[in-house]
Amino acid sequence: MSESAISQNLALIKEKIAEAEKKSGRAAGSVKLCAVSKFHPADSVIEALRAGQFLFGENRVQEACEKFTFIREHSQELKLPQANLHIIGSLQSNKVKKAVEIASCIQSVDRLSLLEEIEKRAAQINKNIEVYFEIHTGEESKSGYADETSFFQSLERVSKKDFPHIVPKGLMTMAPFTQDKSLIHKSFSSLRTLLEKCQKEFPEAGLTELSMGMSGDFEIAIEEGSTLVRVGTAIFGERNYQEKTL
Ligand SMILES: *Cc1c(COP(=O)(O)O)cnc(C)c1O
Repeated sequence: MSESAISQNLALIKEKIAEAEKKSGRAAGSVKLCAVSKFHPADSVIEALRAGQFLFGENRVQEACEKFTFIREHSQELKLPQANLHIIGSLQSNKVKKAVEIASCIQSVDRLSLLEEIEKRAAQINKNIEVYFEIHTGEESKSGYADETSFFQSLERVSKKDFPHIVPKGLMTMAPFTQDKSLIHKSFSSLRTLLEKCQKEFPEAGLTELSMGMSGDFEIAIEEGSTLVRVGTAIFGERNYQEKTL
């Protein structure tokens, strides 16, 4: 994707976000944009940085590590602003150490053992790390907590301040991959309802954010209360799963 295309796409997405905020009676600027750069090269991230986009999402730790280490090592020489990275893909325990080192936030927490591992690794380097709890709301997606009981067990531990290096932010989900808009609305509204329940039953956890909405459905997500949309294809173009990213 050419340089100007990325900055044009970013401008267009921001315009659409602003329109969707207005249409749903939401405050201007209440929805943040996470640019999902997975399978796109460091050059594309650099172009987005130059266009004023500072928050990025990656779903594979190894790829994120290579790309963002490269960018950070060259940021002074290239006069780049700082890139902020969120891990958004399902995370194996043996990747947590790296993930905690390179990211400010892990959006894909889906089990208690992962919280324990994140706390352990964050404590080792004395870093606070933000988390979102990924909730399974759509039929086709396999990731995320599948039942409320296991999620509430995790949240209870968080509320008891068992994880001092973890900063709980909110909930994350992926809507089902479908043309049926009512199913997409249903998936996002169920996440919002769950957040309200968390705020009532676990106020100490301090959850406030809803990470929902991707290229195809972010406007629906904003209508349903999203505070953070994760957009990849509409900014960087189609992903080429064969190409090397560095
Ligand atoms: C890839 C990905 C996105 C972005 O998807 P697009 O359809 O390209 O916008 C968002 N969230 C997660 C968890 C992803 O893995």
